[in-house]
Amino acid sequence: MTLCRSLSAAVILLAIGPAVLADEPDKEKLKGRAGEVEKRVAAEYDNLEALYKYLHTHPELSLQEEKTSARLAKELKAIGFEVTEKVGGYGVVGVLKNGKGSTVLVRTDMDALPVTEATGLPYASKERVRDKNGNEVGVMHACGHDLHMAAWTGTARVLASMKDRWSGTLVFIAQPAEEIGTGARLMLEAGLFKKFPKPDYCLALHCNPLFPHGHVGFTEGLALANVDSVDVVVKGKGGHGAAPHTTVDPVVLAARVVLDLQTIVSRETNPTDPVVVTVGSIHGGTKHNIIPNEVKLQLTVRTTKDATRKHTLEAIERIAKAAAQGAGAPEPVVKVDLGEFTPALVNETKLTRKTVGLFKEVLGAEKVHERPPVMGGEDFSRYGRDGIPIFMYWLGTLPPERIAEAAKEGGKPLPSLHSDVYYPIPEPSIKTGVKTMTLAVLNLVGK
Ligand SMILES: [Zn+2]
Ligand SMILES: [Zn+2]
Repeated sequence: MTLCRSLSAAVILLAIGPAVLADEPDKEKLKGRAGEVEKRVAAEYDNLEALYKYLHTHPELSLQEEKTSARLAKELKAIGFEVTEKVGGYGVVGVLKNGKGSTVLVRTDMDALPVTEATGLPYASKERVRDKNGNEVGVMHACGHDLHMAAWTGTARVLASMKDRWSGTLVFIAQPAEEIGTGARLMLEAGLFKKFPKPDYCLALHCNPLFPHGHVGFTEGLALANVDSVDVVVKGKGGHGAAPHTTVDPVVLAARVVLDLQTIVSRETNPTDPVVVTVGSIHGGTKHNIIPNEVKLQLTVRTTKDATRKHTLEAIERIAKAAAQGAGAPEPVVKVDLGEFTPALVNETKLTRKTVGLFKEVLGAEKVHERPPVMGGEDFSRYGRDGIPIFMYWLGTLPPERIAEAAKEGGKPLPSLHSDVYYPIPEPSIKTGVKTMTLAVLNLVGK
C-alpha cells in the first residue's frame, strides 16, 4: 500500500515536473528585472514618501474617503490609466491596457479608523470627527492603509513606465470601507468584474506590525477567518431594583447568556476547528435601582469553515432563546448582520507559491516568513470567492532594533495594528512594497 502510494506519487511528480519548473523564477532574468525596478522605485521615492505623509495627515473614515479617492484617481490619470470614480461608494478603478496577456488586479484600501493618534510624529493626524454617539474622536491611519496607497501608487507608476517589459491588462483598484467589511462587496455589486476587465489574478499587501522592514510574510491557503457581527437583545420585564420578584431581570439573564455562549467553543466545536465568540459590548439599564426591560449584546464571531460558521450562528440563537425560556423571559432578538460579513481569506496555492518563490529570490529566503493563519478578517477575500486566484501578503514595517528590543525580557511590547501608536517606517517599507508588488505583477504579465 505504502509502496503503491509512493510510486503513484512519483508518477504524479514526473507528470507535473515541467509545470512546477516553469513556476520557478528564471534567476538571471529576475535579477535584471529586479535591478531595473529598484532603480525606478528609487527615482519615485521622495514623491511617494510625500504622498504617504499627506495621506497619513489627512485620514478619512470608512465610506467617507472623498478626498483620498480623488487624490488617488488623479495619480492614476496622470500616468495614463483610464480611471472611473465612485465605483461602490468612493471606489476607484484604473485600467491600463497593454496588449495581449493576463489581467492582474492590484488592490489598495483607503479608509482610516476612529482612533486618536498618539505617535507624536511631525506628520501625525489632527483630524477629528463625531462618532455615532456624538462623541468627538480622532481619525488615524492606524492600520497602515496610507502606506498601502503609497505602495500601490508607486507600483502603478513603475509599471506604467515599463510598458515595453510586459503585456496584458492592469486593473488598479482603490477600495473604500475595508475596516467595516463593506467596501469589496460594494465594488463588486457596482460591477467591478462586469464593467471592467475581469482579473485572472488579484494581489494585495498589508502592513505587518511584527516583521522588520525589508521583510515580507505569507500564508498559503487559509490565511484569515470568516467574520460575522451578531446583535442580541435580551428581553426582560423591568421594575424596581428592590423588588426583583416582580420583574424578569434581563441583566442576570444576559450575564448567563454571555457565559453560555462560551460553551459553543468549549463544548460544541471540534477542538481542532478554531472558533471565537467574543461579546465585545454589553449595555443595559440606566440607574442603580431600576431593573431594565432589555440588555443589548454585540458579538464578533470568527470561524474558518462554512459549516462551522453556520453551526455557530445557529447555536448563538439557540442558546439565547433557551436561556430566555429558562428564565420565563420574552424571546430575545438575535440578528446576524450579513452586511458586515467578511468571508475567510484563502490565498490560492499556485499563485502563492509562484509569488513567494519570486520574493525569496529577490529579497533572500531569510526575509520571507511563512506565518500561520490568524482569526482576523480582510474583505480582499471577496475578490477570490468566485474562483479567481488571490494572494495577499504581509509587508514588514518596523525597524529591526525595535523588534530586538521588544524581544528582550521586560522590553517594550510592539504595538498592534489599530493601536494609537502604531506607524510604519516609510523608508524602506514603501520601497519594499513597491518593489515586491511590481515584481509580483511582472511575474504574471512580464515579457
Ligand atoms: Zn484594520
Ligand atoms: Zn487594514
